[in-house]
Amino acid sequence: MPHRKPGFETRAIHAGGAPDPTTGARVTPIYQTTAYVFDSTDHAASLFNLQTYGYIYSRLTNPTVAALEERIASLEGGRGATAAASGHAAQLMALFPLMSPGDEVVVSNKLYGGSVTQFSRTFKKFGWQAIFVDADDPENFRHAATEKTKAFFVESLANPGGVITDLEAVARVAEGVGVPLIVDNTMATPYLCRPIDYGATLVCHSTTKFLSGHGTAMGGAIVDSGSFDWSATPGRFPSLAEPEPAYHGLRFHETFGDLAFTIYGHAISLRDLGATMAPMNAFLTMTGIETLALRMERHCANAQKVAEFLAAHAAVAWVNYAGLPGNKYHALAARYLPKGAGSVFTFGVKGGYEAGVKIVEGVELISHLANIGDVRSLIIHPASTTHRQLSDDQRVTAGAGPDVLRLSVGLESVDDIIADLAQALAKLG
Ligand SMILES: *Cc1c(COP(=O)(O)O)cnc(C)c1O
Repeated sequence: MPHRKPGFETRAIHAGGAPDPTTGARVTPIYQTTAYVFDSTDHAASLFNLQTYGYIYSRLTNPTVAALEERIASLEGGRGATAAASGHAAQLMALFPLMSPGDEVVVSNKLYGGSVTQFSRTFKKFGWQAIFVDADDPENFRHAATEKTKAFFVESLANPGGVITDLEAVARVAEGVGVPLIVDNTMATPYLCRPIDYGATLVCHSTTKFLSGHGTAMGGAIVDSGSFDWSATPGRFPSLAEPEPAYHGLRFHETFGDLAFTIYGHAISLRDLGATMAPMNAFLTMTGIETLALRMERHCANAQKVAEFLAAHAAVAWVNYAGLPGNKYHALAARYLPKGAGSVFTFGVKGGYEAGVKIVEGVELISHLANIGDVRSLIIHPASTTHRQLSDDQRVTAGAGPDVLRLSVGLESVDDIIADLAQALAKLG
């Protein structure tokens, strides 16, 4: 057969998934072990010195987790990946090699609510300052950047506001400023959008959502494109470019080149932060990814039909789905998400807060809970749950006004999803 690069669906099934060399097991086994026997003291020493690739202790690396990392890196078109215990752990470990106390990160102000809290409150305790900007104008990133800026952070398709970032334009600004662009690609998945193709340096995931896909396993990942020159500006990224005392003065970028970020992720970030993905979760996530292409296709097709149904319903005030022609982000969706605008979107019902509560209490097939990206259809009313502690004004700014409902359209028969929403809407009277 002539050499050809395997397609997305093939890599989703085979990348990282070679038969087990010892037993021949076709599916990557769950290596449920904390540690690995050394061949000799010399072997152990070379592993500890990062002179040999191999396994020491599962806080750093584990064969099941490594197989998942290879699969996700392949799908995103990256050089390497680091798995993490959750999406939030991945965000922490995306910034950790880049930031020192006093440093800044310029961030889209339309992120997932949990990320806004993580960046604005918890990261502040490390002395990391998050500067929030409106990502609709990529120039806002340039204006906010200073010599302390170490990264830009955006979501390709934002949860839940449906904001789509002009990745190529923001990547160009990042390149001009000399910082990496980090893209949270959780909602789009590499099936719908591959940020590295548009110039992103690092891609973050909550694998908890569409990658695992079945609501069974928490997890996260950071994929490195391998294309950023961490040594370009002396003193700018000391963790990656300057000697590391814990490894006898080794310089990660000089020694490992385009794998520097990924090896740092295991040898330092996971070693010391300890936010490691469990092998069982890596196994469940790998299995989920095998059907990612099929699931995303149907997720998008179902979401499109549900959005069209809601947009035509008399009791619905508005629908914010980029797959609908009138949507503000419809043109960006056509460019960055040509296969579909994802399956998570918000809509508003006439009758405000009370009507929103009635819908989440009225649905029967759709589950009322705080998650997205499950085969099951999910709904939440942010004003009475996730955004309950905020003032009315703060809720509106966060896209969680009194009437807002967030749907994550699942893979049930689409007529059943629509019928469930229809009967809940009918109860509004
Ligand atoms: C859920 C989510 C996260 C956080 O991921 P966890 O796995 O819950 O820690 C980050 N970003 C986005 C876009 C998400 O939807």
